[in-house]
Amino acid sequence: MKNIYTHIPGFPRIGAQRELKTALERHWRGELPAAELEAVGRALRARHWALQRDAGLDFVTAGDFAFYDHVANHIALLGCEPERFRFDGSEPALARYFTLARGRSGGAAAAAPGADGGTCGGQCGGGHHGHADRDEGSPALEMTKWFDTNYHYLVPELHAGSTFSVASERLFDEVAEALALGHAVKATLIGPLTFLWLAKATDGSSRPDLLEHLLPRLLPVYGQVLARLKEQGVAWVQIEEPILGLDLPQAWRSAFETAYWQLNQAGAPLLLATYFSPLEENLSLACRLPVAGLHVDGVRAAHELASVADWLPVHKVLSAGIVDGRNIWRTDLDAALATLAPVLDKRNGRLWLSTSCSLLHVPYSLEPETALDPELASWLAFAREKLDELALLKTAIANPEAAAAPLAASRAAIATRRASPRVHDAAVRARVAALPDNAAQRKSPFAGRRLLQGARLNLPAFPTTTIGSFPQTPAIRAARAAFRRGELAAATYEAAMRAEIEHAIRRQEALGLDVLVHGEAERNDMVEYFGEQLAGFAFTRNGWVQSYGSRCVKPPVIWGDVSRPAPITIGWARYAQGLTAQPVKGMLTGPVTILQWSFVRDDQPRADTADQIALAMRDEVDDLQNAGIAIVQIDEPALREGLPLRQARHAAYLDRAVRAFRLTAAVARDGTQIHTHMCYAEFNDILPQIAALDADVITIETSRSAMALLDGFGTFRYPNDIGPGVYDIHSPRVPDREEMLALLRRARSVIPPEQLWVNPDCGLKTRSWNETEAALRNMVGAARQMRIES
Ligand code: GLN
Ligand code: ZN
Repeated sequence: MKNIYTHIPGFPRIGAQRELKTALERHWRGELPAAELEAVGRALRARHWALQRDAGLDFVTAGDFAFYDHVANHIALLGCEPERFRFDGSEPALARYFTLARGRSGGAAAAAPGADGGTCGGQCGGGHHGHADRDEGSPALEMTKWFDTNYHYLVPELHAGSTFSVASERLFDEVAEALALGHAVKATLIGPLTFLWLAKATDGSSRPDLLEHLLPRLLPVYGQVLARLKEQGVAWVQIEEPILGLDLPQAWRSAFETAYWQLNQAGAPLLLATYFSPLEENLSLACRLPVAGLHVDGVRAAHELASVADWLPVHKVLSAGIVDGRNIWRTDLDAALATLAPVLDKRNGRLWLSTSCSLLHVPYSLEPETALDPELASWLAFAREKLDELALLKTAIANPEAAAAPLAASRAAIATRRASPRVHDAAVRARVAALPDNAAQRKSPFAGRRLLQGARLNLPAFPTTTIGSFPQTPAIRAARAAFRRGELAAATYEAAMRAEIEHAIRRQEALGLDVLVHGEAERNDMVEYFGEQLAGFAFTRNGWVQSYGSRCVKPPVIWGDVSRPAPITIGWARYAQGLTAQPVKGMLTGPVTILQWSFVRDDQPRADTADQIALAMRDEVDDLQNAGIAIVQIDEPALREGLPLRQARHAAYLDRAVRAFRLTAAVARDGTQIHTHMCYAEFNDILPQIAALDADVITIETSRSAMALLDGFGTFRYPNDIGPGVYDIHSPRVPDREEMLALLRRARSVIPPEQLWVNPDCGLKTRSWNETEAALRNMVGAARQMRIES
């Protein structure tokens, strides 16, 4: 007797046409009243539940919706809005919620009323940061990445004295909506331990302090929430504890036991949900917690499914997340069924089937992708299609005959992908296989290269440069949009971009910068621009994934072996260099960042795909140097964010990431100076690997930590040249010369002066020219003063 149920941990909330984005931005501009925004939310939820039910899922999930971020929803639910916002009860709940997310301005440079913005299109890496331009007033909560995804959550701010209460009706209202629509409802909540783990202390409390002081106060409130959900009549409560996939300190592991004994008292059937990472040493703990069911990631931790099936008492429900919630490939259903067969046996035929994690991390539907190559499209499954895959798996188990035809169709698609000559390019494979041992090794050590480059470039001490992009003005964006719509001829578009480049060069010359950039006017996005010109990449029309709030990204799809059919940047670089006697950097995106910000094929190790991209970009480096470009910058802002969630896997990841970068760079002759750039990250734990990149110069974001980030480089005796950012490009504020000078003096106290470069934190594409010129003028002034002082 088979007893199979299907559900998903969560569904994308942004809407098929990004309706939520449109509505939010209209609301923030004052064009859409709160009641109408609420109506949009209600309609989206109703539609998404209907999709789940119509696909044949046994439960719909409520509580996964959020107007900005689900962690922020929990801050409101649990009544722990930070005191610093001084809410006095006069503001409506929704307004308070958006204040947490977007900040409250104290003056003129208010958080932009429209979309929240950053340089990075919502993709940028690791560290805590806010994106909107902010002045005094109340800055928004910090944002940081949700585990190893590109989704950013708002970081709860807690302290030893924080208190909690059930303070929002929103979750219960949404559950009531779903029930009123006649659905069988599974509510979802972030668990108390994961909530505490994700928070930051505002009073210097350590994580163990927060755990010790706050968990006892938090549990009764969770108890009340669970009791109310039960009373409402939900079938299940999914309680998400993804930190069970992390290396947890013992105190946290023990806390799980006590916490869940207490939560179980509420009497609501709990499905403890884990995802993104294997449970490993937390596996038996997760299996014995007093909950009614356990969801595990059957994709990232497929190898653990059998042990979970053994360890989890049979009276508990096992939910196997067998369909990938993090990637966009069609599930190999035969393989999934083969994986599930022994699990089913162990569970006496009783099993829940699910996606590995919430579908928040994949696009909505393939339906609008009519422009995609049909064969490629047949290999993909977005959120909607994944619902159908779950339903089909259930049928295949419970009623195999009924599933025969759709299974055969799915099998055929998998077979064409596996055998496709378009996916497997023999020349690319042969090239990777034949790489000589020294392919990732520059010819001479840094000291020798430095002399040659110094003689060639003849730069002053404290050379000044920028990170690459200059303001992407409305004119540039309009020209690109018109070109894409076919309204602007290629030659006209190119002429317009050349004019922008010349303009950027002239302004840099006038400012007295030493190493120039062409300004990246011709680039929409640092990954998309290269992906569009590499073989093996595809772009969707509507494959949006929420990054934070109303911000979405549309990651490229890397579906086949990667190669570079033709040079990409050489024409632009040669043009820019031809305008000036100063060196102009050639500007590339590194292989690790291209990989990290794409949906990556799942039929070979990610690192192998990285090597292929590295070789394509290596050819670009070689062509640039042969065109007379003396400096090539290879940006790797996403290097650190690819770190696996488990420590034990860090070394292997970093090894391959460093090698991919070096494969790209090592074709450079000794006299070609290689720069790299990284931002938004803590680097101190990966300094040996950053040094191992062996870039001649690295520019990093440091100004917002007031150069504190540089201390690590100093103590480590970082061997090559380094440009610590001297001003924050996220803010319209123009720092004066003295401020940057103070940072440079601080840098000189930890790094030998002959190693120091002077530059902003990151690219300037979101700034205006006025701010940019004023800030760079002060920066050049600060560098000149340093030369006098040294
Ligand atoms: N060269 C890129 C720019 O300046 C780097 C962007 C980034 O680091 N995110 O825009
Ligand atoms: Zn950057």
